[in-house]
Amino acid sequence: MTDIDVALRERFGLSSFHPWQREAIEELLGGRRRVIVIAPTGGGKSLCYQLPAAVLEGTSIVISPLIALMEDQVRALTERGVAATFLASTLEPEELRRREREIFEGCYQLVYVAPERLESPWLVDKLAALRPGLLAIDEAHCISQWGHDFRPSYLRLGQVIERLKPPRVLACTATATPIVRREIQERLGLRSEQSAVILRGFSRPNLHLTVVESDSSTQRRKRMLHALAEALGSPDQPRGGAIVYAATRRNTETVAEAVVRAGWRAAPYHAGLAASLREDVNRRFANRSLDVVVATNAFGMGIDRADIRTVIHVQAPGSVEAYYQEVGRAGRDGQPAHGLLLTSSGDLALRRRLIGFSGGRDSDGVQDPAHVQQQWALFLDLMRYVEAGSCRHDFILRYFGDEQETLGGCGHCDVCERLEEAGEEGGPRSASDEEALLVRKALAGVARNQGRAGLTAVSDMLHGTDNERLRRLGLTELSTHGLLEDRPKAWVLALLRRMITAGLIDLSAGEFPIPHLTRLGIATMKDEEPVRMLVPPPDAGQARTRKKERRPSNRELPDDVDPSLFERLRATRLDLARAKGVPAYVVCHDRTLLEIAAYKPTSMEALAGIHGMGPARIERYGEPFLATVSSHAP
Ligand code: ADP
Ligand code: ZN
Repeated sequence: MTDIDVALRERFGLSSFHPWQREAIEELLGGRRRVIVIAPTGGGKSLCYQLPAAVLEGTSIVISPLIALMEDQVRALTERGVAATFLASTLEPEELRRREREIFEGCYQLVYVAPERLESPWLVDKLAALRPGLLAIDEAHCISQWGHDFRPSYLRLGQVIERLKPPRVLACTATATPIVRREIQERLGLRSEQSAVILRGFSRPNLHLTVVESDSSTQRRKRMLHALAEALGSPDQPRGGAIVYAATRRNTETVAEAVVRAGWRAAPYHAGLAASLREDVNRRFANRSLDVVVATNAFGMGIDRADIRTVIHVQAPGSVEAYYQEVGRAGRDGQPAHGLLLTSSGDLALRRRLIGFSGGRDSDGVQDPAHVQQQWALFLDLMRYVEAGSCRHDFILRYFGDEQETLGGCGHCDVCERLEEAGEEGGPRSASDEEALLVRKALAGVARNQGRAGLTAVSDMLHGTDNERLRRLGLTELSTHGLLEDRPKAWVLALLRRMITAGLIDLSAGEFPIPHLTRLGIATMKDEEPVRMLVPPPDAGQARTRKKERRPSNRELPDDVDPSLFERLRATRLDLARAKGVPAYVVCHDRTLLEIAAYKPTSMEALAGIHGMGPARIERYGEPFLATVSSHAP
């Protein structure tokens, strides 16, 4: 047992680390010593500085803007025998001076400081003289000027770090957007090659995610009402609540009328309503005398209801993060819940306008082009989510950078379900043979490009365009020129876009982004990995409507499946689901069990080749499934 394990038990009374906590603490103490931890609120981030502070020599400093939280933590630490205190402007001057004196004498292992305190160069100098072994910055997203919690005093922290020269720096936040993360890194001087970024705990496997694109407003309205009925049952006896999000205030009112007409107890909610009205809606939704709230994004903070069965967006929200936050309000009780995103081509123009109105102006009403650009880029990321050809959950987790929790296909989002259908009809796993071949051809084209040209030129090359520009770039000479000549240009470009969102291709940063294959892309090209994405529909580029409901599966077991092993695997899955208190399909899908029963993997590596077995599932469930296989007599 190492020092940190001993400290965990003896000082903190906990029996084991979350695996990522150990990783963060080891990086901080003996690894790269510059660490960013991103995990949801309540995930256990504070242990990542409290435990090192308890085992390190000397004083550690934690910067936190939340005074109530500092007080609580100081009390808890003191009870556990860790000498801790805090400095904030709420203290009496005399008390403040007494604490400062003790701190400068080195009486404390852990000192919490409110960021405003560090505006005093005197205090910073005194703290620097202590040579603190660790500086932790909690709520690090407060440094982001794009974020909601921006605190001007956080901007100075870069300079504070330069003065204190701490050998170890930890930044913690629950905000997972890549932009905010980059800003934290830049402003705190945590350069990416030299710091460890640990991002964990954002997966919500009990959420069933679906996107429907349709340019018919009647269709969209029907889908919304259908989804409400599916999730809540009948209006007489609803099982739980629902939130419907719309992009404009006016729309919340018209949609709410339609929902009421369908028999639900529903009300609109937006920032333009009187405060008393808004409180009333909040209260009635909380005490279950309202089933559905139709709201703008103003609704959400502090919703205290765990039995929300569905969150429906009737228009696209502003970003992937906003979407995930809003849809994440469904299924807080861990029971199955649905997220439905309805969108039409009109949403692009609408969002462009909304950005022009609000986000793009500073407090004086002046347009800030950089901000407009930023917001627009975030919205385009959401559009990539809409047209993603790979698992919705994996897309979002990959977007946040939570590669560790990707599932390799959740098995129950709309894309996974369509992949499943394609697999049933076409025979092989994941995409059909024909589709997989198209993807592999496109991958070969990107590989041959070898950094020469951007995405559009590469797609022209695959399509077989012959013009001056392509000739100059040498693209017409490539063996992959015209490899997809039977497909329209726009379709090939849509295919390449999907390959980006599926993680097969990446774009270089910079003014002229160049596509290149990721490791997954290379493995997929070589047929070492199955193709886990859908190719675009034939009319890609134009608006489309999704055709049909998922048809009920009446699948026969494949020939090579061992039926008795399959049954035993199902029993194992049921045990796991009960132990974790989640629905069985969250553990894994039937498809995964069928493949295990057919291929009988005997190692973690072999398990990784099974449909739906991503790193997170392997970590959580790999061993029991392997044990079931190995204990099963052939
Ligand atoms: P965050 O700072 O990420 O919002 P906290 O650090 O306040 O979250 O932790 C939330 C709760 O989780 C605390 O009650 C803490 O004791 C508990 N916790 C943290 N790490 C562990 C662990 N390894 N095992 C069990 N409980 C833990
Ligand atoms: Zn999925």
